[in-house]
Parts: sequence; structure tokens; C-alpha cells
Amino acid sequence: MKIAVIGQSLFGQEVYSHLRKEGHEIVGVFTIPDKDGKADPLGELADLMEQHQEELATIEALDAGAVYTLALKTHVGMSIQTFRYFAGWCDKIQGSTIPINQARPNRNLTLTKKEPVGVCGIIIPWNYPLMMLSWKTAACLAAGNTVVIKPAQVTPLTALKFAELTLKAGIPKGVINILPGSGSLVGQRLADHPDVRKIGFTGSTEVGKHIMKSCALSNVKKVSLELGGKSPLIIFADCDLSKAVQMGMSSVFFNKGENCIAAGRLFVEDSIHDQFVRRVVEEVGKMKIGNPLNRDTDHGPQNHQAHLNKLREYCQRGVREGATLVCGGNQVPRPGFFFEPTVFTDVEDHMFIAKEESFGPIMVISRFADGDMDGVLSRANATEFGLASGVFTRDINKALYVSDKLAAGTVFVNTYNKTDVAAPFGGFKQSGFGKDLGEAALNEYLRVKTVTFEY
Ligand code: NAP
Ligand code: MG
Repeated sequence: MKIAVIGQSLFGQEVYSHLRKEGHEIVGVFTIPDKDGKADPLGELADLMEQHQEELATIEALDAGAVYTLALKTHVGMSIQTFRYFAGWCDKIQGSTIPINQARPNRNLTLTKKEPVGVCGIIIPWNYPLMMLSWKTAACLAAGNTVVIKPAQVTPLTALKFAELTLKAGIPKGVINILPGSGSLVGQRLADHPDVRKIGFTGSTEVGKHIMKSCALSNVKKVSLELGGKSPLIIFADCDLSKAVQMGMSSVFFNKGENCIAAGRLFVEDSIHDQFVRRVVEEVGKMKIGNPLNRDTDHGPQNHQAHLNKLREYCQRGVREGATLVCGGNQVPRPGFFFEPTVFTDVEDHMFIAKEESFGPIMVISRFADGDMDGVLSRANATEFGLASGVFTRDINKALYVSDKLAAGTVFVNTYNKTDVAAPFGGFKQSGFGKDLGEAALNEYLRVKTVTFEY
């Protein structure tokens, strides 16, 4: 097979020789954008994805139950933006020159080069099938690597459509490989493979730990992990309440709660607690549950049967442990995996639903005493997760203090879910390490070579 390398020209020698050994022919190196104005495969791919955006959004609605309008704007829209953004990085990856040991008689100079790591494996979950693929793949390719992508078993379809578009974009066969299959077989093989040099993983903490171990034991491959979360959202009484209600809703119910940065727990200051709950419940009552392909649907079906079952059990456990079920808690009586938008209050710190992620449309609300900022912060941080967090307040000092203290990779202030292709995204603690998006994501797919001269 003929293989071309996208990105920069410093592709690792060991990878070249491996590919040659396997009988592939290296046909050349694209830089993006190509200096001669010839090839811009990543930009081309973004354009093609845009031309096929309705089709991609429809597939995501059918395969993942994503509401079409959200799929078009977010699942597919952000995927396109991600490829555009990283297309622009391809010719801006550079090292530095470092003066070292200038003592005579010899002079010295050190320079660093950033090289692709080689063949990368990307393993992704089912909640944003195309978007998770794009976040990792775009950075990986811009850094000059080749990639093998394993989509989730339950949602492989947009990845396959994407594969078709990569060929149309002129990306040679062999650069991007989509390998659907089970995690225990295909995913595990990638993590174990001696020629794979990096695994980019998004999924559960449990599987992430296992993959990290496999990466270490096989060939010490580089690994980045975006894992589970139980992100706290603190709502102070001095906030803009209408905005806090609106954003609080989307912090939980966005993408049917199948959102890794979903607010897993809302802490509401006592003096506005009852008003906040009343307004949220009003809003929940207005949500339109229905066919994800209908343009006026707000809330679609959950991703698959097993997930739906898990949500039912999660709610039952909440009730059993004494939390107040204000609304929802059940499957919607209609065909499909629909689960009611649910609100729990009086949730105490020791309860299961206060600690564990639901990954569904379930709002978990706890109160905190008026003025007890440090108390609520220590409760918010009392979790092994650290993916995201949020705070609503009009007090700038409070906002800055709280954003300093929250132990999470992302802090949203007076907003929520506002991710951007240019802003690094990733967790602290057992929510993993390594960033997607932004310049930081490139380094996850590069290695630094130090070259030292004496003259
Ligand atoms: P998962 O069970 O961890 O699966 C994620 C991916 O890993 C799937 O493709 C899965 O394959 C594969 N996999 C399973 N076992 C494997 C193994 N032994 N070796 C290699 N790969 C393996 O997670 P999920 O059920 O898809 O997604 C839900 C979880 O993902 C939630 O906990 C959520 O918090 C997390 N998540 C995190 C983020 C983030 O950015 N931090 C984003 C989205 C989701 P199969 O197809 O066989 O399942
Ligand atoms: Mg799983």
C-alpha cells in the first residue's frame, strides 16, 4: 500500500522503516497547508464534512439518539471546526533553541524538534461519536501521525461515513484507519500492540486505568485519558437567577445528560434554593421529549438499552437512600430508550447519587448554608473526579476565589458547556490527564527531540 504522511516532515524514522518492512511505500509528506498551495487535506476534510453535515447529523441521530438540531450544531458542527482549527496548526509546530554551557573553549547550542510519535490508537465512547473522534484525530494528524480509530461498538456509523470522506479529501489509504469492534478485543489489541506508540482514550475511569496498565506493560506507550466526571456546579444567592436556571438546565440535560462534563451535582445556596428548584421544575415541564429527528425536539432517547436500565437503577437507589425525587425518575411510556428528565433534591454527601456519575438526564441538587463558601468548596472537591466545574455569582472576587479553589480541569464562570476548539479540555485526578483541543492537544501526539551541538 502507498502511504503518505500528513503534517510535518519529521515523521519518526522507526515508523517509516516499520511501514517499509510491512511492504508499504512512503509516497511523500504533506504539510498542511502545503507550501506550494497543493494539498490541504485536513481543510479539505473539514469542507467535505460541512457538505455532508446534514447526513452526518442524521446518522448521529439514528445511531446515538442525538437530537438532530444539536447533532448538527454540536456533534457535527464542532467536529468540522476542530479539523479547521488543527489544519491551521500543521505548519506551526516548532521547537526552540536553548543556550547551554557557554564556557570556553567550546561553545554549545541545543535545539529541540517536535516529532510525531508514530502510529496512534484512538479509542472513543458512544456519547459524541463523531465529535470525540474528531477532537483526537485532528490533533493526531496535524502532528504528523497515522492513526487507527476504534469507535464504540454501539455507535460506529459516523466513523465509517467519516472514513469515506477522508478518502474523498485525498488522504491516502493507510493514514486513517477505522477499526470497529469490541473494546475487549480491538481496543485491547491497540493498547497492547508493540508498534502503536500512543493511545488517546475517552471513556470510563475503570477502562482508562486498564488501558494505562496495558500501555505500560506492552511498550510504555504514551497515553492520554479523558475519563468520567461528577462535576460540581455552585450557585450562589447573588447570581443572575434566570441565567443560572437556564445554564443549570443545560449543565445537566444537554445531550440527554450523556455529556462527560455534565454537572453531576448542583450546590445551591440556601436562600435561593427553593426558588431555583421551582423554576427548574417549571422548565423541565416545558421540555419537548420526542423523535430526535423532529426539529422541535429538546430531549431524545438515551443511547442504548443497557444505559437506560442503569439510569432507572440509579434513580431507584436515590429514592431508597432518602433523596427527594421532585420529578421524573422513570422511563417515558413510549417506544424507544426515553428517560424522563429528572430532578432530585435533599441529596446528602454520603448518598450514592451524590458521588457517582449517572451520565443521564438526572439533576442532583444539594443545599449549602448562606455564606458558607469554604464549606461548599470542600464538599465540591470531595470527589476523586476532576473533569469540570462551574460557579454562578455576580461577585468577581468570589468568582476568582472559587475558580482558584475548584480542583477540576475546567471551571465555567456564569456559563456552562462552553467548550471551544482553541481551549484545552481535560481532567484532573481520576478524570484523567492529557488535553484535547487547543495547542496543548498537539503535544499529546508529539515527542521532543533534543539536539546538542559543540563548535
Ligand atoms: P467505556 O466502557 O470506558 O468505553 C470506552 C471505549 O473503550 C469504547 O470504545 C469501549 O469499547 C472501549 N473499551 C472497553 N474495554 C476496553 C479495553 N479493555 N481495552 C481497550 N478499549 C476498551 O465507556 P463508555 O461506556 O463508552 O462511555 C461512558 C463513560 O465515558 C462515562 O463514564 C463517561 O464519563 C466517560 N466519558 C468521558 C469523557 C471525557 O471527555 N472525559 C467523554 C465521554 C465519555 P466497546 O465499544 O466495546 O464498549
Ligand atoms: Mg462501556
